[in-house]
Amino acid sequence: VSQSAAKLPSKILELMDGFRASKALFVASKLKIFDHLKDKGPMKAVDIANDVGTSVCGTERLLDACAALGLLEKTLQGYSNTDSANIYLTSDGKYSLHGYIIHSNDHLWPLFTNLESAVKEGSRQNHRAFGKKADDLFKDYYHSQEVKQRFMAAMHSIARLTARDVATAFDLSQFKSACDLGGCTGALAHELVQVYPDLKVTVFDLPEVIANTSYFQPSGQHAASVTFVSGDFFKDNLPEADLYILSRVLHDWPDEKIHVLLSKVSAVCRPGCAILLAEMVLDDEKKNRSTALLQSLNMLVQTEGKERSGTEYRALLEQHGFTNVTIRITGNLLDIILCVKM
Ligand code: SAM
Repeated sequence: VSQSAAKLPSKILELMDGFRASKALFVASKLKIFDHLKDKGPMKAVDIANDVGTSVCGTERLLDACAALGLLEKTLQGYSNTDSANIYLTSDGKYSLHGYIIHSNDHLWPLFTNLESAVKEGSRQNHRAFGKKADDLFKDYYHSQEVKQRFMAAMHSIARLTARDVATAFDLSQFKSACDLGGCTGALAHELVQVYPDLKVTVFDLPEVIANTSYFQPSGQHAASVTFVSGDFFKDNLPEADLYILSRVLHDWPDEKIHVLLSKVSAVCRPGCAILLAEMVLDDEKKNRSTALLQSLNMLVQTEGKERSGTEYRALLEQHGFTNVTIRITGNLLDIILCVKM
């Protein structure tokens, strides 16, 4: 390494390139290149381009970039998937991130294009990215079947990656019933009944979501332990349960709305019952975890919410009688906060 190369601002250069690398991943995923290469020997760029229906010169450059980024392997025989591409980038695996990648390309990318306005105005940018803004972000997501399906597939894919750690961060075997508020496709619910075979889980979500869940259901032996109930958690009665779960829900909302929701949970939660939050918990100084701090910008561009620190979650919970709060940092994308009501 020459003297001048050693002084290059490599971190900054890498960040300047970050969006190009993201887009290369997104486009290869949209074109289903990783599905195409699954279970196949190495393929030449020209054959991939012919199969996918793209230009040879463009496809070759995309494949080379993906190989250099470590997403594909390139040999003299051609391109093949890496092990992690087979697990995470093909569209049908248990831990596939395909749904979240497509959501990132089609939904988050246009929103992040308006990050500057979001920072100047301090508000979400749906109108700039997509031409309109409803009074609540989920109305924006659920106005069309296509956008709703894409959002649910994204939540499903990211939830399956975190579900095992959410389910096992604490021993939940004392609870007989749980209600996953805003539980979406039931990905966490199905993991919970695998880990705790005696547990019954009710997934509670908006009617538009519940009407669309059948596509995401597994056919395992514990499937009958998961039931779906539709309703609005700000307005309707909440199902009875020993354990109330809010996973990636509080970060969508400002404090005022969280107080409405937590007061409803507190009213139905009997002594000995509990509330479990799954969120990216920030450190108190908000300086350590770029994934979580970037997620807070992601909340800025599309919601009225934000990521919060453990101290902030504790303060919100304590106002509703949830006092003995325990926080587990998992090392996964979600951390867990458990509080048994006294
Ligand atoms: N819990 C899932 C997870 O961790 O992947 C999904 C999280 S997603 C960010 C938020 C969920 O809250 C969505 O499924 C959404 O439909 C649901 N939701 C939003 N507003 C709601 C309301 N008023 N009543 C019930 N569910 C609601």
